[in-house]
Amino acid sequence: MEVKNIPFNKPFLTGKENHYIYQAVASGKISGDGKFTKLCHDFFEHKFGFKKCLLTTSCTDALEMAAILINIEVGDEVIMPSYTFVSTSNAFVLRGAKIIFADSDTKNPNLDVSKLEALITDKTKAIVPVHYAGISCDMDAIMRLADKYNLFVIEDAAQAIDSYYTDKNGITKPLGSIGHLSAFSFHETKNIMSGEGGMLVINDERFIARAEIIREKGTNRSSFFKGEIDKYGWVDMGSSFLPSDIIAAFLYAQLENLEDIQKRRKAIWNYYYKELQYLANTGQIVLPHIPNFASNNAHMFYIVCKNLDERQGLISALKENSILSVFHYLSLHKSPYYSNKHDGRDLPNSDFYSDNLLRLPMYYELTETDLALITKTISKFYERKL
Ligand SMILES: *Cc1c(COP(=O)(O)O)cnc(C)c1O
Repeated sequence: MEVKNIPFNKPFLTGKENHYIYQAVASGKISGDGKFTKLCHDFFEHKFGFKKCLLTTSCTDALEMAAILINIEVGDEVIMPSYTFVSTSNAFVLRGAKIIFADSDTKNPNLDVSKLEALITDKTKAIVPVHYAGISCDMDAIMRLADKYNLFVIEDAAQAIDSYYTDKNGITKPLGSIGHLSAFSFHETKNIMSGEGGMLVINDERFIARAEIIREKGTNRSSFFKGEIDKYGWVDMGSSFLPSDIIAAFLYAQLENLEDIQKRRKAIWNYYYKELQYLANTGQIVLPHIPNFASNNAHMFYIVCKNLDERQGLISALKENSILSVFHYLSLHKSPYYSNKHDGRDLPNSDFYSDNLLRLPMYYELTETDLALITKTISKFYERKL
């Protein structure tokens, strides 16, 4: 029998992508801000109540726009977790900021808010919480500190589409709607994707007009197209952050199927959780922790192993069954690029997740048979160890 490979990720196509791309091409207007871009913006603004959405070519670009919008200057300090993707920090490094890396929580990889205030100085300009695995950070605590010290909050919501936070008053808000600005990713590894793609969400109205300018190479072209002015010119710094309408056409097909996609991913997530629970109960592994204030968008299913050797052993055991599991971030404060710029603080929880966290295959087309094989392989690995 031929062995079936189970990849870590497989981009899911809803079937409408080609049709919408065809329409976009046939319309004769395939640069940015065409019909499909507007459909996507409207979808996000209605579904999640975001004040203003702007599609970008990536989440990385959305973060770069955010850094420009809050006027990051050389020497400004920006606080973010060390356990994150390089783009979270690159966006601010590009503008000359010093990154103050925060440690992760003990319960999950999100930044530990109990240690956040101690990192704030008179140079701090922003906090960038990353909702790891789509699980919300403690946003009340973060927004309270931001208020107290007059800081901007930029949510790295790359993984957090259709995930929610319930605040202290019991009000449930979509992730990405809480900080002043937020950045989403539609990279093919995310729940909703367009190959490459992203979005800047603007919740603070003061940034809307300037964001449209920065996204259009520093020109007021978008006002021109709306008929607000009769010629456009160079009015600010900027770059080309807007995607072609072909990308938006692809994305719109995905958005129309958001509910179906989320339902399937959550079923897979719940299967893993249920089948692996006994290993957590006996202290062999740790399962994802979802705080009471957070929802789960099933972006990722991870387990936390006891140590690096055990994780390597499990990766190999899965590989022997043609199952691809992958670890995740390496602490950025220890990276070749940043280690000599870091202030020397130890960030043990971040290092712990770098060594021990393991992500299991998670994609729409994963079958019950695949899932049974994956969970059985993990069970066997731990039973052998007992
Ligand atoms: C995927 C991801 C990004 C980058 O997204 P791109 O769209 O590929 O630029 C940034 N931050 C986090 C936390 C991510 O998971």
